[in-house]
Amino acid sequence: MLKGLLSLLVKPNCPLCDRAAESSLCPWCAKQLQKMQRSHPERDWQGELPWFAWGNYGGVLKRAIATLKYENHPELAQLLGFSLGKAWLESPFATPLKGAIVVPIPLHPRKLKQRGFNQAELIGRNFCQYTRLPLQPLGLERCKDTEAMFGLKASDRAANVSEAFIVGKPFQKRKPNAPVLLVDDIYTTGATALSAAQTLRQQGIEVAGMVVVARTIAQP
Ligand SMILES: [Zn+2]
Repeated sequence: MLKGLLSLLVKPNCPLCDRAAESSLCPWCAKQLQKMQRSHPERDWQGELPWFAWGNYGGVLKRAIATLKYENHPELAQLLGFSLGKAWLESPFATPLKGAIVVPIPLHPRKLKQRGFNQAELIGRNFCQYTRLPLQPLGLERCKDTEAMFGLKASDRAANVSEAFIVGKPFQKRKPNAPVLLVDDIYTTGATALSAAQTLRQQGIEVAGMVVVARTIAQP
């Protein structure tokens, strides 16, 4: 009883460092997170699949994404999704793509069951809440249970994700009348993103690019 009452009064501590926190992160972690923000995200908006990343994958940003995914802290998706949304609205692409439909990179159903949520969808939901763009969480489906990408070479990653996706039922029924903007938590080599984009493009659906919370340093 007393414990129950206390839990109403005491806010949960910072999920990253266990210090007292007024919002989703303590002031120290929030400040460290800010340091991971990239200064010119718009420079990568080019090529076969343009992409836009809020931050560099490392430090507190890496810990926040891992804590969100593996320690069951889906509430961190709000902070990350809002940060990405704010940077997007400040970019030169927000106005020409103001009608874009946001589609998260899906998880395989088996992994979704295991984790209980798709972090890309949660980030996308919050990104959309901030930017007011429409979300279509079922625009893509994952049909192949790709093995964990960690430790694979770039060429193996590309082979691993080829034909991993199919166009989701809502888009099969009715082709979207606006370009798609993919969303994910991390951009590594872009193999996953390109495979997802190709799946949609093969069905005549326009894909403008991809927004992500963090990008890793490109590997050869
Ligand atoms: Zn903290």
